[in-house]
Amino acid sequence: MLEIVQHVKDKDPNEREFHQAVDEVMASVEGVLDQHPEYRHAKILERLVEPDRVILFRVPWVDDQGIVQVNRGFRIEMNSAIGPYKGGLRFHPSVNLGILKFLAFEQVFKNALTTLPMGGGKGGSDFDPKGKSDLEVMRFCQSFMSELYRHIGPNTDVPAGDIGVGAREIGYLFGMYKKLKNEFTGVLTGKSISWGGSLIRPEATGYGSVYFAAEMLNTQNKTLEGKVCLVSGSGNVAQYTTEKLIEMGAKPITLSDSAGYIYDEAGIDADKLAFVKKLKNIRRGRIKEYAEEYPDAVYTPLDPGADHNPLWAHKADCAFPSATQNEINGKDAKNMIDNGVLLVSEGANMPTTPEGVHFFLGSHILYGPGKAANAGGVSVSGLEMTQNSMRLSWTREEVDERLRLIMRSIHKTCIEAAEQYGSPGNYVNGANIAGFTKVVNAMMDHGVV
Ligand code: NDP
Repeated sequence: MLEIVQHVKDKDPNEREFHQAVDEVMASVEGVLDQHPEYRHAKILERLVEPDRVILFRVPWVDDQGIVQVNRGFRIEMNSAIGPYKGGLRFHPSVNLGILKFLAFEQVFKNALTTLPMGGGKGGSDFDPKGKSDLEVMRFCQSFMSELYRHIGPNTDVPAGDIGVGAREIGYLFGMYKKLKNEFTGVLTGKSISWGGSLIRPEATGYGSVYFAAEMLNTQNKTLEGKVCLVSGSGNVAQYTTEKLIEMGAKPITLSDSAGYIYDEAGIDADKLAFVKKLKNIRRGRIKEYAEEYPDAVYTPLDPGADHNPLWAHKADCAFPSATQNEINGKDAKNMIDNGVLLVSEGANMPTTPEGVHFFLGSHILYGPGKAANAGGVSVSGLEMTQNSMRLSWTREEVDERLRLIMRSIHKTCIEAAEQYGSPGNYVNGANIAGFTKVVNAMMDHGVV
């Protein structure tokens, strides 16, 4: 197994996050490969780690001062064995090929778990929407789509949102696609409800992560009622995670952004969450302002050089990392266990470093990896594609119920796969094995392509 990880590292030595994602999946599937020598013979692993296609392009645009800016655009079409490429677009200055390859690789297995026919992809740009005017964001999105439109389509590749890409950006991207192709199709998901979106799509990742947590707790006859919860981030996933936690009787006490975090001992309730939604989605402000509005809450700036993040050191029962990759290191994981955390449900993609994962698994807490726990977002994207194809819209209750059932099914699939391969209760192995098996069986059926 190590050979394939070494092969990936030798080939692209700078793609650290991609190595991490490959390493984790490969460690989980050793037992599967031992039982299926035909996979090795067909060089399945070598084929899985090589994207079907990488599209890299220039994105020139003009800022409000009339100055020309140039960003880099990407789309990684990773694997289409079980359906059209599907996965979000991320706009953030940290975006590079290695980060997008890790996200696309994760997406392949996550999408396989959803029960829906979707391959895996990811894309984005090193453009930073923070501090940009609406018109600048629009001009950037239009330039980005003026290249991307050639490569995507409702039966080919269907992008969605991710960090820095929300309803506003999806609107501008869709508008340009529609103009260039002269067709109105479900080429993007996360659309507004009045022009082809699905109810519950904005909520889906956060709600799904909480549903997954409830399923995990249920295996121990516990519920979320009264549980004190740490949530990181304050964007789409964090907001709807918090909303569902409140609805289910839990008590979320933290939220963050890249500059710092707030700790509200009394709990973030529905009114406070409404303030956060306005602050982040309309005024595009910083989480620091929460503590100005609610003086009992404490704001702590984050020190990027620190060896741990104090957000994870508060006493709590459950944790919902919902910001970004590698936001929980080994020390954070230890702090969480020492302070009573019994469940982690990852809304973000790969938010825990390998040391942190090792610690969680060794501590035998309920640990739901992103691939399974945050699959609700792409699941409802899949449902949005179905509704677009049928040209009808399901009700809020109908989509929410389907989301609930999908999260339950993903949970069951993980449990069964982990048990079958000798690691009961290990959701990391369960998710990797189940996703891997589905994708590679399809690849085997398709021959060497
Ligand atoms: P948003 O852009 O809506 O919010 C991201 C949040 O995370 C912001 O609060 C942001 O703070 C914070 N953040 C981003 N980068 C960093 C960083 N380097 N350090 C600390 N904080 C950071 O994104 P989403 O909520 O959509 O995505 C959050 C996570 O969930 C990502 O890992 C994403 O891949 C994952 N995810 C999202 C899905 C979706 O449906 N949206 C689906 C599945 C997974 P700031 O404003 O300061 O940048």
